[in-house]
This record gives sequence, structure tokens and C-alpha cells, in this order.
Amino acid sequence: MPRVLLVAATTGYQTRAFADAARRLGFDLVLATDRCHVLEDPWGDHAVPVRFEDPEGSRNALVSAGPFDGIVAVADRPTLIAALTAEGLGIPYNSPAAVARCRDKYLARQRFETAGLPVPEFFRVAIVEDPLEVAARSPYPCVLKPLGLSASRGVIRANNAEEFVEAFERIRAILESSDVLIQREEHNRYIQVESFIEGREFAVEGLITAGELHVLAIFDKPDPLDGPVFEETIYVTPSRESAETQEQLIEAVSRAVRALGLTHGPIHAEIRLNREGAWVLEVAARPIGGLCARALRFDRGMPLEELILRHAVGEDVSAAKLSDPASGVMMIPIPRGGVYEGVEGVEQASEMACVEEVVITAKEGQKILPLPEGSSYLGFIFARGDSPAHVEAALRQAHRCLKFEIATALPVVRG
Ligand code: ADP
Repeated sequence: MPRVLLVAATTGYQTRAFADAARRLGFDLVLATDRCHVLEDPWGDHAVPVRFEDPEGSRNALVSAGPFDGIVAVADRPTLIAALTAEGLGIPYNSPAAVARCRDKYLARQRFETAGLPVPEFFRVAIVEDPLEVAARSPYPCVLKPLGLSASRGVIRANNAEEFVEAFERIRAILESSDVLIQREEHNRYIQVESFIEGREFAVEGLITAGELHVLAIFDKPDPLDGPVFEETIYVTPSRESAETQEQLIEAVSRAVRALGLTHGPIHAEIRLNREGAWVLEVAARPIGGLCARALRFDRGMPLEELILRHAVGEDVSAAKLSDPASGVMMIPIPRGGVYEGVEGVEQASEMACVEEVVITAKEGQKILPLPEGSSYLGFIFARGDSPAHVEAALRQAHRCLKFEIATALPVVRG
């Protein structure tokens, strides 16, 4: 029975999807997480406690828990421990240096520039610097962003110096919040400034084997992403772009993968396309996050997690093809901050043609925070159909059926 190590930062739905996939495949899946204190029993002694802020100690614990036939990391932070462990055990995975580049937007941009890929004007500023002074030397419009957060958290467009200073202060507050400070990451002391790249945006899901990219899906993102915050909403595959444009996107991602030195495992890349070319925004050394993977099904309905596990143990999965003519997901954005109280219209939305599933992940009574401070969604809508246009229309219609109740969160008054 193949034994696979899964390194995860949460014990949520993505981790459970891998556990289900492993069970179907008859693989023995061992979970490494810093969440052992909140683990439900099914994992039992199949979970190894690690501390992401202590990569060396975690590597030692995981190497002694070996041997493993393969290793998979979900989310960005776990990729470092996965890489160190794989190196220690001599199993195929990306090197620690390669995943470190993917997790730091400054290092990644430097690699892209050196490799001759198109990059915006970019520089990095320590959060202790004076934003007014930095605003004076920034290009406009520009995008300010943390180096190591994800899901567009803290990514803000500024069109002038005034907006720059406001954005800088907001990102600084995020980077100084307790949930970020606890990560003890050096890169969280900086903000990156990049000139704004116009254009349409795409995401590419792929698998790397011996440094070669195999594309599993290209997603169009039909909603414009022009800021001031960059909310992901709809992803639809296959892409409606011409074969030539799709080739251009794949070529750009392949070059970015080589520049970063990625060699083995899943990737999720974001690219912008305009008249000047294809601009890779980032390549993450992990699969698409959250529940979104449910939008992808391969031969005979095989989920992405199953494909990734088989790839991790060395199986050749390059023949796998998407099984639906078109599919997509809508990440339901948080319209405003407050306390989530409930939703109406889920049944109506679920019954619409092409809509497969509406999953509300917000919990009653949960405090919710929109971008740029927050980074979660109210839930997800999944649709499948005979064309990308039908899928997109279904996702939009279903979303219109949903009426969310969000109460204004009252500030805590201390007596
Ligand atoms: P994250 O890892 O948090 O998703 P990204 O760097 O990928 O951060 O940025 C999130 C989103 O912000 C991108 O998907 C894109 O829409 C937008 N964005 C980021 N950088 C730029 C840029 N230089 N020009 C235009 N849009 C950008």
C-alpha cells in the first residue's frame, strides 16, 4: 500500500478531500499539521504534529515518521516543510529553495526578471518606512501587496500618492495583526509595489514532473479585476481563448516554472494577458485552494485530489483529461463586514440548470471580513454544462438567487 505524506495548514475540506481520495485509491495517507489539537478522531495516529514556524524541527519529526512513497502539500506555508522532508527522505518533490521563491513575491519577481520574463516595475519596502516618501517614487497606477499572504489578502491598487499612503497603512495593519505575526515570517516585514498590469486574467492548474509542466486546466476569469481590491469570483474552464492564446499562456507558465526551479508536484498559476504579452503574476507550488478543486473532474469523474496523489507516488497521469465539456466555480464574495446570520435562496439556486452544487461555508454567528483584510468566501457555487458560456451564466444566475443576511458587528464596549 503506497504511503503518502500530506502536509496541511488546516484540517478543513481540502484535507478531507485528500483523505477521501486516498481511501478510494487504497493509499495510506499520513497527515502532518500544526492543528493536531483540533483534529477529529479519524486521523488518530495518522497525524503527526508539526510547527510551521520551526521548519527544521518539523522536518526531523517527519523524516522519522517515514518512509513515504510521495509527498503533497496543500496551501503555501506547508510547502517548505514538505520540501525539506522530501529532501531528507530522497523522494521527488520541489527543492526548499524553489518553494521559498514561490512563497515570496519579491524573490519570484526577481527570478522572472533574471529569466527574461515580462515583469512590471517592482520594488520592496520595509513596513517601517515612511509611505509618503515611498509614494513619491512609485509608478502609477500601482498595486501594493504583502509578499507572502494569499487569496488577494492585502492586495490593493493605488492610482495616486494619497491612495498609496492609505493602502500602505492598511497593509501594514494586516501584517501587524496577530494571525500574521504568529507566522514569524521575515517576508511579512515588507510590502511589494508593482506597476499595474492591464488585461484579462487566467489561472492555470498543472502538474510538474521532472521540471516539465503538464497543464490540467486553463481557467478564464470573466469578471474584470481592476481593483482597488482583487476579488476572485468566477473561474470557468475550458478557456474560450484561441488555441494560440492558450499556447501563449502555457508557454509563459512553463518559463515561470523553470525560472523558479520547480521540479515536482501540483502548481496553481495566475497570469494576465494584454497586447504586450502574458505576464505571470505568480506560481504557487500547490493545487487550487479551498473547495475550488471540485470544479475539476477527470476521466470517469476522478477528482483532482486523486490525480495528485497518484502523481505523488510516481504514476504517469499525463493522459488524464477533463471529463466535463465545461465547468466552473464561483467563489461567493463577502459583500461587507459583519456577522453572518444566514442565507435564503440556496434551494432555488441549486435547482437551476447546470448548477451542480451550492455550498455555503460561512457559519451562523461567524464574523466575516471582506477584502483586503479578510481572505475567505461565503461559499462556493459549482456548475457544469455543455459550454463555458452556459456555465458562466448559470453561476451568475445562481448567485443572484442568494440573499445573505449580514448583521452589523457592534464594537465591543468595555464597562
Ligand atoms: P495572492 O497571492 O494574494 O493571490 P497576487 O499577487 O496573485 O496575490 O495578486 C492577487 C490579484 O491581484 C491578482 O490575481 C491580480 O488580479 C491582482 N494583481 C496583483 N498584482 C498585480 C499587478 N501588478 N497588476 C495588476 N493586477 C495585479
